[in-house]
Amino acid sequence: MPPFLKRKVLYLIGEEDNPWLAALKCPCGCDDVIQLSLIKNDTPSWNLITRKQGTTLSPSIWRTKGCKSHFFFRENRIKWCD
Ligand SMILES: [Zn+2]
Repeated sequence: MPPFLKRKVLYLIGEEDNPWLAALKCPCGCDDVIQLSLIKNDTPSWNLITRKQGTTLSPSIWRTKGCKSHFFFRENRIKWCD
């Protein structure tokens, strides 16, 4: 885990072909660091889908604390939920 995260960058921590953690700065601007487990047995955990169009995380990311942002990370883009 890098000590300082840049905004608008998705960090993958783990082995190259087998990351177990995704981290990003909250896109709402609050600058909190969001950590998402990619380990299937964890609850909650996320699927990392890497395609030519970009990286997708599934399901959506819904923060339960802080700013309570709810958004999708889809093909390298943030898509906000209402
Ligand atoms: Zn936020």
